[in-house]
Formats: sequence, structure tokens, C-alpha cells
Amino acid sequence: MKEKQQNVLIIGAGLCGSLLALRLGQRGYNVSVYEMRPDLRKVDISAGRSINLAFSNRGNKATKLVGLEDKVKSLCIPMTGRMIHDAHGNTFQSNYSGRDYEYINSISRGELNALLLDEAEKHKNVNIYFNKKCKSVDFEKTTALFKDHNTKDEFVEDADIIIATDGAGSAMRKSYYLGKKFLFSFSQDYLTHGYKELSILPKENGDYKTYKNALHIWPRGNLMLIALPNLDGSFTVTLFLSYDEGKYNFNNLTTDNRVLEFFQEAFPDALALMPNLVNDFFENPTAPLGTIKCSPWHYKGNTLLMGDAAHAIVPFYGQGMNASFEDVVEFDKVLDQNLGDWEAIFKTYENTRKKDTDAIADLAIDNFHEMKGHVNQVIFQEKRKLEMALEKEFPNDYSSKYSLVTFKEDIGYREAMLRGRAQDKAILNMLSDKKIDINGNLKDILYKVKQETEAILEDDRIAGLYQR
Ligand code: FAD
Repeated sequence: MKEKQQNVLIIGAGLCGSLLALRLGQRGYNVSVYEMRPDLRKVDISAGRSINLAFSNRGNKATKLVGLEDKVKSLCIPMTGRMIHDAHGNTFQSNYSGRDYEYINSISRGELNALLLDEAEKHKNVNIYFNKKCKSVDFEKTTALFKDHNTKDEFVEDADIIIATDGAGSAMRKSYYLGKKFLFSFSQDYLTHGYKELSILPKENGDYKTYKNALHIWPRGNLMLIALPNLDGSFTVTLFLSYDEGKYNFNNLTTDNRVLEFFQEAFPDALALMPNLVNDFFENPTAPLGTIKCSPWHYKGNTLLMGDAAHAIVPFYGQGMNASFEDVVEFDKVLDQNLGDWEAIFKTYENTRKKDTDAIADLAIDNFHEMKGHVNQVIFQEKRKLEMALEKEFPNDYSSKYSLVTFKEDIGYREAMLRGRAQDKAILNMLSDKKIDINGNLKDILYKVKQETEAILEDDRIAGLYQR
């Protein structure tokens, strides 16, 4: 298989599709990308579902791979920890790691997507077409049917392979499902909560109205507000709230006064920073949150799903984009193996990757509960404090679950999940049984935590959790 002679059709020029186009272009493939929306570099459209995102080590692996680490860094605002805003208006910062050099970043989805499109288009062998919506894919013939938004004409494109990176609502995944030509498993689980984006605008002089280098969280049990900084001095704020449960929910927040009353009760300090709240609230859509798992991702050696099209997750670990970028890194590694044909490449890729994307999907749900509730509970705060101290004192010997998932990009999400959950269980058990004292000797504590963690991992192994 000569890379240069292969025609690759990519559906969707979002974050994953544009990165994939760039990488395959660098490798010499003939790449055609079809995107349903207008070119976001020319038309002022919201880039997608969230204005900014948390970008971290796994995503950075991909930007390194394509030689864009520095350019991406210039778009980033470091966030060293969570700034928790309690119900009384007090704030305290909980760093993401005890190691100073580990932090996450806020990045604009639109700027990042535009950079990837620019870089992909620098390659003569990469062509990107906008306003072309994929309607279906014939995975047996390796063709895709598109509709041009402007002319309304429909046309068919063929290629040696088709890779769909068309996001959570993937047209190709629908064709797999509706085609009923092979055993295709698919699940979609919605949370009872949805989300709405709001904003904290900059001060008149352009300064930030609250601390810039943190991910702000207002955890309130069953609901939560978060805010991430933007380069222009504003913050993008996201409200996570049930559609129909509790005193205040998306279905009953129908008037200006009720929205103001809700914020006054739940987030008075945030409300003070958001004179534009009511306008934002009724202008911006409310959207659902869900997890999509499916398999197989590929049909023979013809077609492959990647990014959110293969594994959409809820945003509470800040890993959806990072995982989609890591997909490209893992796919690239499989291409390096020179397996000879696309079916072997797709199969190997899915076999190595799916266990990890299943794991981050489950971790993201866990973090939903941790962020909206646990961060406020004393035992979780003690555990966090202890883990930070362990990471600081023993930087090479200890990493919390959050660090394993977010900063240890050389281990897979599944490995991070199993070890991280075992550590959490070990520490919480020992804290509640008073077997460790957070003010005790850290070396002794590390020893006990490691021993208990290994015992739990051994139980998991016996129970078969470690095998697949
Ligand atoms: P998308 O970004 O959805 O791109 C799909 C592209 O395909 C789009 O350009 C779309 O227009 C195009 N398309 C769709 N259908 C068609 C079609 N039929 N024909 C042609 N083109 C089509 N991830 C993080 O890592 N960190 C975060 O902090 C984070 N926060 C998030 C917050 C929220 C509220 C949400 C909803 C998600 C968040 N994510 C985050 C997840 C992240 O947005 C996704 O994982 C990421 O965008 C996936 O990239 P993708 O390219 O696979 O899909």
C-alpha cells in the first residue's frame, strides 16, 4: 500500500477531522475533507458546542506530533486549579496537581480549529470543502452522499477509505446502524441534566473580573456553574442543571425574574459579575449531555469512525477533545506498523483504542458527581489535600486519579481509571476508618496507600476487571 496513492475522504472538519487531515496530509495521502458548516475562518459562526475547552497533555501529544505545540500554546491560558466558590461567597483554590508544572489550559475552540484548518490547507494534497453535508455513507461501496448547502445539489464522492469525524450526531454512524448489514452495537445515554452557556464580560479596561488562571466552579449539590477564561478578558460560563427536577430547573426557568431569583439564591457572587445574565440566558440554547458508545468503529477496510463520532462523552473530565486528538496519535502509531491493508489497520486501531475511550466515558460520568457535590464534602477535601501533599513530596511516586487521567499521557485511560479508582477507594476507606491521619508522616501514609491500592487492584484482577 503506497501512502501517496491513497485517497482518503474525511467527513467533518471539526477538531478531530482537521487534525487528522493535517496528519494524513503530512504523511502524503490525498485527503479530501467535507464539512457541513461554512468556513469558520470566514463566517462568524459559533465554532460548535462550547466556546472554550480545557486542553491538556493528551491533546498536546497530538499538537506535538504535527509540529504545532508552540502555536497552540500561544492560544492557551493556563489554569492551575479549580477555584471553588461556596454557597457563602467564600473561595478557595484546589490545585490540579501537587507538581507545579502540571496544569490544564483554557483554549478557544474556534481559534484552535482555525489553526488546524490553516495548517492542513498548507499541504497541496489536502482539500477542504465547506457547506457540504454528508447525508449517508455506502460503506460497502466506500462512497458518501453529500448535499451542497448553497446549490442544494446532491453528489456522491468515492475514495479508498472514508473516515467519519462528524461528531456526536455522525451521519456515517447512522448509516452503520440503519444499514443492518453487520452486527453494530450502539448505546446513547443522556444525563437528566443539560447545559447552557453564559458569560462574564471583561471590565471596561479589558481586565478579568475574577481570577484568570483557574477553572471556576460553583458546586451546589445537584447543579453547578463553571467558568473558563478567554484571551479577551471574558469568561465562558456554563450552567449544568436538571431539565425537570428540583426547585429550579431548565423547564421552569421561564421568566427574567425567575432566572434572577435562581442566581440570587444559588450563585449570588457570580450574578454580581454577570449583568448580562438574563440576556444570555434567553438568547443561548439549552443542550443535552450524553455518552455514546458503539462498535465496531470500522466496516472491513472501507470506513472508520473517529473522535466524537465513535465515542462522545460528557464534558466533566475536560477530555472529549483531548481523547479525540489522542485518537489521531494512536491511529498514526498503527500506520507506522505498516500492516499492509486498511482492514488490518482499522482492526488494530480499534482493538487498542476502544478500551481507553470506554474508560474515559465512565470517568467523565464519575467526575460529574465529584464536581457538583464531592468537592464540597470534608472527606473529599481531606483526600484531595492528602493527595496534593503526596504528589508534592513524592513527585515520582504518586499521582492521583485526576493526574493519571490528565497528566500521565503515556498510560492509557483504562489503566489510569483502574489504578485511580483503586487509590480513591483505598484513601477514602482509610480516612473514614481513621487508619491514616492527614497530618501524619507522609512516608508512612504513602506506604499504606500503596499497599491498600495494590490489594484492591489484586481483588480487581481476581474479579476479572483487569482483563479484556
Ligand atoms: P466535533 O467537534 O463535534 O466536530 C464535528 C464536525 O463535523 C463539525 O465541524 C460539524 O459541523 C461536522 N459535521 C457534523 N455532521 C456532519 C455531516 N453530516 N456532514 C459534514 N460535516 C458534519 N473536550 C475537552 O477535551 N475539554 C473540554 O473542556 C471540553 N468541554 C466541553 C464542553 C461541552 C459543553 C461539550 C458539549 C463538549 C466539551 N468537550 C470538551 C468535548 C469536545 O467538544 C469534543 O470531544 C470534540 O469537539 C470532538 O471533536 P470532533 O471533531 O470529534 O467532533
